[in-house]
Amino acid sequence: MRGIALLGSTGSIGTTALRVLDRQRDRFRVAALTAFANTALLEQQASRFQPSFVGLVRNGTDHDSRWRTGEGCLVDAATREDVDIVLNAVVGAAGLDATLAALEAGKRVALANKETLVMAGELMTATAQKSGAEILPVDSEHNAIHQCLRGETTKEVRRIILTASGGPFRDWTKEEIASATREEALNHPNWKMGDKITIDSATLMNKGLEVIEARWLFGFDADRISVVVHPQSVVHSMVEMLDGSIIAQLGVTDMKHAIQYALTYPDRRANCMPPLDLSQLSELNFEEPDTGRFPCLALAYEALRRGGTAPAALNAANEIAVAAFLADRIGFGDIFRINKSVLDAHSRENADSLEAVVRADREARAAAERLLAAPVAAGMIPSG
Ligand code: NAD
Ligand code: MG
Repeated sequence: MRGIALLGSTGSIGTTALRVLDRQRDRFRVAALTAFANTALLEQQASRFQPSFVGLVRNGTDHDSRWRTGEGCLVDAATREDVDIVLNAVVGAAGLDATLAALEAGKRVALANKETLVMAGELMTATAQKSGAEILPVDSEHNAIHQCLRGETTKEVRRIILTASGGPFRDWTKEEIASATREEALNHPNWKMGDKITIDSATLMNKGLEVIEARWLFGFDADRISVVVHPQSVVHSMVEMLDGSIIAQLGVTDMKHAIQYALTYPDRRANCMPPLDLSQLSELNFEEPDTGRFPCLALAYEALRRGGTAPAALNAANEIAVAAFLADRIGFGDIFRINKSVLDAHSRENADSLEAVVRADREARAAAERLLAAPVAAGMIPSG
C-alpha cells in the first residue's frame, strides 16, 4: 500500500485525482490532503478518504487534531513518513517549496504543478538526482513523452514535439485576440481546467511553460523541443527519432489517464475509462503555431534560451498578469505586454539556489505590479 499526499485536492486536477484514487484503494491510501481555502469541499474529501493529515492554508476553523492550517501545511504533508508519492496539483509558485521538500525527502513527485519546474528546474532535478527521488509528469504532453521514451536512448532522439490544442482563439485575428473578454478566454474547446491554466492556454503561454518544463524533465535544449498545434488533442505529444521515425501517444482527453500513470508507473492498470474509439476520429490536423498572434510562446523560448532566473521571472510576471486579467483589471493583449516588459528588464542570475529563484520571483512580481499601477507608461493604455 503506497501513501499519497495530494496537494491542491480541491482543484481541477485534485478532484480528478481523487476519482482515480477512489478506484485504486487496494493499492493507494490517501494519507494527506491540502487545499487553499475551500473548507467545505476539503471537509467532504476528508470524511470520504480519512487521511491522517488535512492541511488548509486559509480559513482555518476548529477541526479535529488531524487538521493543520497555514502555508507550512504543504511541506508538512509532502514530507510525512506515511507518504510515498506526493501529487502536487497546486497552481503556481505556491507549489514550489513542497515539491522541493518532497524531492529532498526522496519521495516520488507526480507533478501537475509545472510552475515548479519552470521556476527552478535546475534545482529540482539536481535535488532529485541527489536523493534518488523521481519526478513523474502529470501534464498530459509530458506524460505522453514519458511514455514515448520508455525503452529509448535519449541520444537517439532528434526532438520532442509537444502538441497544443491552440486554445479558444486558434482561428481569431490578432485584433480580435487583443480585445478578447474573460468569458471568451475561459471557454477552452477541449479541456475543463482551473482558471489560470485556461487563460495560459488561450495565450499559448501554457505551451511556453511546457517547453521549459520539458527541458528539465527530459534534458533536451530549446532547439530540440518543438510545438505543433493539433486542435483535436488526441495525440498528446510525440518524439521524433534520429531515423525520422515518430512515436506518438494517443488517448481520450481525460486527465485521469496521466494521473493514474504517474502513480502506478512502471506498472499499468486497467481503469473504467472508455478507450479511444479510432473509428470515431474523422481527421487529425497539425499546423505550425503562429507566434505573431500568440507571442507568449516565443517569449517562453526566449526565457529558456536566456536561462538562469529568466524563466522564473517570466512565470512570476505571468501569474500577476493572468490574475489581473481574471480580475478585469487589464485586457487580454496586456498579458503579453506585462510579461515582455518584465522579462526584458530582468537581470538574469544563476538559478541553482532556492534563494536566487525566490528573489527573481519576488522582484518580477513587484515589477509586474508596478506596470499594473502605471498602465499608460507600460503602453497598455494608449495615451492621447
Ligand atoms: P485549480 O485552480 O483548479 O486548483 C488549484 C489547487 O491549488 C486548489 O486545490 C487550490 O486550493 C490550491 N491552491 C491554490 N493556491 C494555493 C496556494 N497559494 N497555496 C496552497 N494551495 C493553493 O488548478 P488546476 O487546473 O487543477 O491546476 C493545478 C496545476 O496543474 C497547475 O500547475 C496546472 O498548470 C497543472 N495542470 C492542470 C491541468 C488540468 O487539466 N487542470 C492539466 C495539466 C496541468
Ligand atoms: Mg499540458
